Amino acid sequence: MKFRNFKMVDYVVYGRGCFNQLDEIIQPHRKDGKPMVFLIDHFFENKPLVSRIPLRHNDKIIFADVTYEPKTSYVDQLAKSLKDEFGTISGIIGIGGGSAMDLAKAVSLMMTNPGSSADYQGWDLVKNPGVYKAGIPTLSGTGAEVSRTTVLTGPTKKLGMNSDFTPFNQIILDPELTANAPADQRFYTGMDCYIHCIESLQGTYLNEFSKSYGEKALELCQYVFLQKDVWDAECDDKLMMASYAGGMSIAYSQVGVTHAVSYGLSYLLGTKHGLGNCIVMDHLEDYYPKGVAEFKKMVQKNGVNIPQGICKNLTDDQYDKMINVSLGMKPLWENALGKDWEKVMTREKLRALYEKL
Ligand code: NAD
Ligand code: ZN
Repeated sequence: MKFRNFKMVDYVVYGRGCFNQLDEIIQPHRKDGKPMVFLIDHFFENKPLVSRIPLRHNDKIIFADVTYEPKTSYVDQLAKSLKDEFGTISGIIGIGGGSAMDLAKAVSLMMTNPGSSADYQGWDLVKNPGVYKAGIPTLSGTGAEVSRTTVLTGPTKKLGMNSDFTPFNQIILDPELTANAPADQRFYTGMDCYIHCIESLQGTYLNEFSKSYGEKALELCQYVFLQKDVWDAECDDKLMMASYAGGMSIAYSQVGVTHAVSYGLSYLLGTKHGLGNCIVMDHLEDYYPKGVAEFKKMVQKNGVNIPQGICKNLTDDQYDKMINVSLGMKPLWENALGKDWEKVMTREKLRALYEKL
């Protein structure tokens, strides 16, 4: 048995208002004449947060277009324009949900690695450390702040740049930044965390490390989405830690059926990660009976709408595409269903599942 020796985030600061320490934290990483780049979720354009960005010298703010989940072409374009303008940069600070954070990680890596980010979609293909990178979540749930991947849609696949160079050098966890997220979005992204827990805790890859983080994250999700009647600051505090712990849980195990199926949806239909996971989870009673029952309670309690019938007009060809993408996620299926998963999850069975969504 060979145990994974995984690279983690270098520095973590947590607390309400800790965003104010950003200037001081990044100061030692500034290189003469080279800017810090703040890649900010476009939601914050013209919002008060922008006036709190500690701009110095030739620092640059870029508003990241996260209408679609990050594409390799967008990463390449951002890295190229920064290289053209500055040669190199001191670092990049990603501020936003999972999309903006993933973009920042990927652009950091593409400042120092040749070619296209599509060349590095896979495991341990990245050759050089990127420039300094920090992540500041404004939505809680994906665990992108702690993960060793950055999920990108490329010309032929949706797959992350998984590597030891991918985790952030610094994360700034300030729950105040998530306070104004719309309830639906907060729920979809929060459910990503809940589903990470269910899939990790019921997976065959489970170990005590993952279990410890997964159980804690699950308890925090249950508290905010089932116990509380009104969303308040305590919920933001707790969900931010749930996201972190959920991410740590899957770092040493794997996700499962929901993610494998949802990847197919997002590849073909562009369905966003959190929402796609919810659409799939709603129909997974056969795989996660307890988790699905509780998920449905959370949907009801939070008054959220989960779309139905999104696959109803698809062609055989389109179903095949989704099935191919999904079955390509081998570790996810193996974690969920064991070594003989291919006998359990046949193409026919997966097609029937997609037809229900
Ligand atoms: P997101 O980043 O795609 O953002 C969703 C929407 O919320 C956007 O419209 C955004 O502008 C808006 N938003 C963000 N913060 C806000 C705030 N505070 N107030 C109001 N609106 C706000 O959503 P997400 O669910 O956080 O991230 C999904 C992305 O994360 C996907 O691209 C997915 O592939 C990726 N992901 C990555 C990992 C990883 O380990 N790297 C894990 C899971 C998901
Ligand atoms: Zn996820």
